[in-house]
Amino acid sequence: MIQLYIPLNFLGVIYREIKQSLTDLDKMFVLMEKEREVRDAPDAQPLAGIDSTIRFEDVNFAYEPARPILKHVSFEIPAGKTVAVVGPSGSGKSTLARLLYRFYDVQQGRITIGGEDIREVTQSSVRRAIGIVPQDTVLFNDTVEYNIAYGRPGATREEVEGAARAARIHDFISATPMGYETTVGERGLKLSGGEKQRVAIARTLLKNPPIVIFDEATSALDSANERAIQSELKSAAQDKTTLVIAHRLSTVVDAHEILVLESGVIVERGTHAELLAKQGRYAQMWALQKSEAAPLL
Ligand code: ATP
Repeated sequence: MIQLYIPLNFLGVIYREIKQSLTDLDKMFVLMEKEREVRDAPDAQPLAGIDSTIRFEDVNFAYEPARPILKHVSFEIPAGKTVAVVGPSGSGKSTLARLLYRFYDVQQGRITIGGEDIREVTQSSVRRAIGIVPQDTVLFNDTVEYNIAYGRPGATREEVEGAARAARIHDFISATPMGYETTVGERGLKLSGGEKQRVAIARTLLKNPPIVIFDEATSALDSANERAIQSELKSAAQDKTTLVIAHRLSTVVDAHEILVLESGVIVERGTHAELLAKQGRYAQMWALQKSEAAPLL
């Protein structure tokens, strides 16, 4: 029985290994697929990176030609300021982030960083300049340290810990028996949505890029956690040029400008106070969220 059990157990391990590798490969192919969407121009130079002002100038974009997603979208995020985008599900908010990260190229108009068209500079330099805190952070099946240091390969343990402290995940990590050596991800310690976001914030803090994209999670965290994450985020976005895809009002009230996107069109824009005074779509959403404590969509 034991003799039979061992090989079966062994096969089980191998099966899980293969399945996991395939999952990792799947993720890689998805990324590579996206990589293939855009190519560097033959003479592409790195982004100068002195000015991190972002401009979307009359941007039109469709994933499939028959279905336009963004229509004549123009806005500016001055260096060091935050612009927040709100709007119904499917209105194109995350698409703005994907275009800025250059997963895809725009079909009309242009996106510039510091005045440079992002299609004319190297993709890698654009991605180096941007830190993303996504809705759902993918953790590698590796140690917490590796996962945080991924933001800046070669970072020392002290630097990793510093970032973890700032993202308020250090105490949680220290409380695990293996500390920073704890394996996380599918095969290791499973982290909650909030903890994963904190790892992503720590990564971004360590990377210290001039531009930050924050794609707020739609899933509700409990409100204490929510407030805490927001304050960590504020510190991650301090002095950075920030694009926030927002689902909650508390995230947007301090934004330099709020854009209300509907079916790929900016239907309203302004500060929180200006938009409330307008008594339009934003004011409606605000009233609804206040009364129902519902997400902003
Ligand atoms: P949510 O708030 O639900 O995250 P969103 O406003 O961020 O939504 P996007 O993710 O930008 O919306 O998607 C805008 C539209 O583009 C949606 O209708 C979506 O189905 C479509 N879309 C997104 N990605 C692709 C893709 N890779 N191929 C084709 N269509 C896509």
